[in-house]
Amino acid sequence: MRHVYMDANATTPLLPEVLEAMRPYWIEDFGNASSIHLRGQKARKAVDEARETLAEFFHCRPAEVVFNSGGTEGDNTAVFGLVRPGDHFITTSIEHSAVLQAAQRAAAHGATVAYVAPQPNGLIDPEDIRRALQPNTRLISVMLANNETGVIQPVEEIGKIAAAAGVFFHIDAVQGAGKIPIDVQRIGCHLLSISAHKMHGPKGTGALFVRRGTPLDSLMVGGSHERRRRAGTENVPGIVGLAKAAEIAMHTLEDGTLQRAAALRNRLEASILELPGTGVNGGAAHDGSVPRVFNTTNIWFDQVEGEALVIALDLKGVALSGGSACHSGSTEPSHVLMAMGLDKTRARASLRFSLLKTATEADVDYALQVVPEAVAHLRALSPVAAGTAG
Ligand code: PLP
Repeated sequence: MRHVYMDANATTPLLPEVLEAMRPYWIEDFGNASSIHLRGQKARKAVDEARETLAEFFHCRPAEVVFNSGGTEGDNTAVFGLVRPGDHFITTSIEHSAVLQAAQRAAAHGATVAYVAPQPNGLIDPEDIRRALQPNTRLISVMLANNETGVIQPVEEIGKIAAAAGVFFHIDAVQGAGKIPIDVQRIGCHLLSISAHKMHGPKGTGALFVRRGTPLDSLMVGGSHERRRRAGTENVPGIVGLAKAAEIAMHTLEDGTLQRAAALRNRLEASILELPGTGVNGGAAHDGSVPRVFNTTNIWFDQVEGEALVIALDLKGVALSGGSACHSGSTEPSHVLMAMGLDKTRARASLRFSLLKTATEADVDYALQVVPEAVAHLRALSPVAAGTAG
């Protein structure tokens, strides 16, 4: 059976070059980057070089890069590191749970939180962020690209609103990194989190951009690593892997790889939309009014239970998911789709296709062979279809 992976927003495979770059730091060059002997110096040099690469990736100074364990830690650090009891915090109702659960905890400790809802097309209106501002607003946190719909948020405009109000601005760029260029100077954010495993790097590694002068409390305390902003022995192989993945991503942002994969996503989407009772959550390629990352399309299939379709497609070798990987297995419909105004049935009937940048025509051909079959099969079994579809 053919195997096609269309769940890149859940995670991506390590590129062979990334594994090769990491390999020495597990074995020969295993030193602790804080040790003063030669092995330690080698590890320190590798971390310093990786920091330079990430600075290039973010368009910031090397000293503004903090290595950590990934997107969840970066998001948690932004919220817990800045928001205090009595502060007001603005975020959106379509954020990843790493921000939403942190917001809930901040609220339980005496902060107030405003959750700005998206428009039905999945876009946050910057004016809604402006309207949510209060005199005690301390932080605004908005994602760069949504993990379920791929919709790219207007972070530059929100950055201007934050700057005019003198409010700190954090961006969860986990799903944008490697898919669109990131320039923290242009966006004007104070904090920005990324995760290596979403961009062909290792799991459990990430980075947080922290603008110089941002009064961020560290989440982890202990040693004086990362200029006291993140205690804990550096994960040298992970950091080297993240830097290699970032270096490769900077090339693929420019060499046409992503445009080629976007064309595949568009073909997949357009063909699926020819099936009756289907539609895109977040603006299809053919309408063009909603900016999306190159690889994602979120499609609803009437009279189909999304979870059943995921399983049916998995049995045919096509791996994808109903929404966020963190919530798969949950019977709750996606909070993102619900926030966009879908009813529970349609939210449950939605599937996220997220292609790897290495996706091929043959992958799409195969998906286009099995998806219509699986949908037709499930619809034939559906009690709703039996009663109404005719
Ligand atoms: N933020 C977004 C938008 C994500 O999609 C994810 C992962 O799914 C995370 C944060 C969490 O990142 P990590 O898996 O590195 O903790």
